[in-house]
Amino acid sequence: MTRRLYHEDSTIRDFEGTVLHSIERDGATWVELDRTAFYPGGGGQPADRGRLDALSVVDVSEDEGRVWHRVEGALAPGSRVEASVDWARRFDHMQQHTGQHILSQAFIAVAGAETRSFHLGEEEVSIDVAHPGLDPEMLRSVEERANEVVWEDREILIHEVPREEIGRFPLRKLPAVEGIVRVVEVQGFDWSACGGTHVRRTGQVGIVAILSTEKYKGGTRVAFVCGGRALRRQRDRARLLRELSLAFTAGESDLPKAVARLKEERERLDKRLKTLLSSELTREAAALIEAAPRGLLGPVVARHFPDRDSGEIGALASLIAGRGAIALLASGGETPRAHFSAPAGTISVGDLLGRLCREYGGKGGGRPESAQGAIPAHALEAALDAARAAALAGAQEGTTA
Ligand SMILES: [Zn+2]
Repeated sequence: MTRRLYHEDSTIRDFEGTVLHSIERDGATWVELDRTAFYPGGGGQPADRGRLDALSVVDVSEDEGRVWHRVEGALAPGSRVEASVDWARRFDHMQQHTGQHILSQAFIAVAGAETRSFHLGEEEVSIDVAHPGLDPEMLRSVEERANEVVWEDREILIHEVPREEIGRFPLRKLPAVEGIVRVVEVQGFDWSACGGTHVRRTGQVGIVAILSTEKYKGGTRVAFVCGGRALRRQRDRARLLRELSLAFTAGESDLPKAVARLKEERERLDKRLKTLLSSELTREAAALIEAAPRGLLGPVVARHFPDRDSGEIGALASLIAGRGAIALLASGGETPRAHFSAPAGTISVGDLLGRLCREYGGKGGGRPESAQGAIPAHALEAALDAARAAALAGAQEGTTA
């Protein structure tokens, strides 16, 4: 059995120990000490990190009462080591974890909602509570109750009692362990069987801030942050707001109005742009027809517009056909799209595009009056030349009625 300093005093960050065993497992070295302040993880709280002498401790795990430290390097049994726990990381875990005890009890006190599980991630912290839907007002009451308990600066008490005596405590959940049970009490507020590490007084949690909720397995998943995480989050949001304020040259409270104005303006410009584009395309269609060679069935406009988008060139093809000419257009550079349109009673552009795709590679087809597809960039020029020739000759693809 390793002596667990983290249970005796959760504020120990530096300690000395003796290496009892060192084993190789899964290509890594795991070291057991006679005593350790490294928490091996459990109950939703991740394992600690830190150093044994100069070696990094990259993981810690527990196996039948023995605590193993995964190190990068080797340590001989019998050697003394100076150990230090990554305290910033551990204290963050203690803040989140103790905050979770308080928040879970606040959910019971205010909403009658039991906590089913707890997850402490690198970014997110969450609990799953047995409540199908919590309204914002209730969430606010839960949050206020939790923070009252934080600010009352209650003591965190540890009771180690035999399993048969745990009836003395109004535990949130009965523990699965036998023998001695460790009961963590947020003085006079919450009692939980827990093997994790906690701060000494609730004031050290700083603040409990609920971030969001989502439905989860018939209950509700509640994301929250405590202490330092809440401060960092507030800092990030303040910076984001400052950046937005600068970008909009508006005060923070005027940002929603500034965004609404921008959206309105954009809609107005979109409408205006559509009108302008449509008259511009009509002019362009007329000019293209004017300059186009004439075949048996009328003018044939065959062109590639590598820098223009497919919506615009598709519209241009329709306009050209609407004015009695055959349009064999393509848009886009790397993966060109074909937009073929023809007036009824001329050629079938669906058949024409189908034939080109078979000859030049590509995919596409459509109706006699309108067809779309993709033709490989390297073959596009040749395909358009062939299409132009066919359309000018008029008869190869057959005419439509
Ligand atoms: Zn705990």
